Amino acid sequence: MAILFMLDAQKPSESVTPMTTRLNRRRFIQAALAASVIPEQARAFGCGPQAVGTARTMTVSTAGGPRFGQKQYPDTLPLADGEVVLTFDDGPLPGPTNHVLDTLAAACVQATFFLIGRNAAASPELVKRIASDGHTIGNHTQSHPWTLRNRSFQAGLADIDKGAESIRQALGGAGTLAPFIRFPGFVDTPELLEEMSRRNVAVFGADFWASDWNPMSAETELHLVLGRLEHARRGIILFHDTKQQTAAMLPGFLRALKERGFKVVHTVPRALYGMNG
Ligand SMILES: [Zn+2]
Repeated sequence: MAILFMLDAQKPSESVTPMTTRLNRRRFIQAALAASVIPEQARAFGCGPQAVGTARTMTVSTAGGPRFGQKQYPDTLPLADGEVVLTFDDGPLPGPTNHVLDTLAAACVQATFFLIGRNAAASPELVKRIASDGHTIGNHTQSHPWTLRNRSFQAGLADIDKGAESIRQALGGAGTLAPFIRFPGFVDTPELLEEMSRRNVAVFGADFWASDWNPMSAETELHLVLGRLEHARRGIILFHDTKQQTAAMLPGFLRALKERGFKVVHTVPRALYGMNG
């Protein structure tokens, strides 16, 4: 299957400053957290060169249902060294999701949110804000079953379709659901993958994550994800905007990206198809 990407002109990656000692890394993390971006102040400066910013937009063809993320699949997005795609799962949830959106807006960074349909139905204004802030919205099923493998194909597909319907209703025409899906827990089935392929829906896994489903301090989470970032150098990162620890960690993480020369890439679909189309 041919997977076509239309990529914007790539900017050269800046050099990345290696962390030299554990002590330095710890001091950097503490400083980054202490100096968390204050959204109102940052907004006052606009999205100039001082902002983290979105380095480029990658327009992804979903034809044939490509699968991205090397934790689950052979391929991932064609990212250059130092480029990352930020993804947030399980929202929206009033509180943490607002905090995450404030931080991203202050940093002028766009991400992709994989929404749970029932959460979207409960907080339609937050769904509209995610869209109006310029982020991409994908489907994460209606009820987030821990494993679709215990369900029949029809039941699993019904949960996917209901999720898409809930998100679209919450958007109410104020934005668009991208033909992007992330299976709950990354648990797919051959039949559902085939159906996504038939529908031209891109399946997003991840390349690494913050393990933020485990309770930990924001400092610990920042240390963990930065260590994985330095190791991976590029990729799709999974966070959960429903986690307060992630919301608290995010300003420091974005500052670290800029300090170390990493670039944020925003993924958007090349063409919009209906999830049932
Ligand atoms: Zn999830």
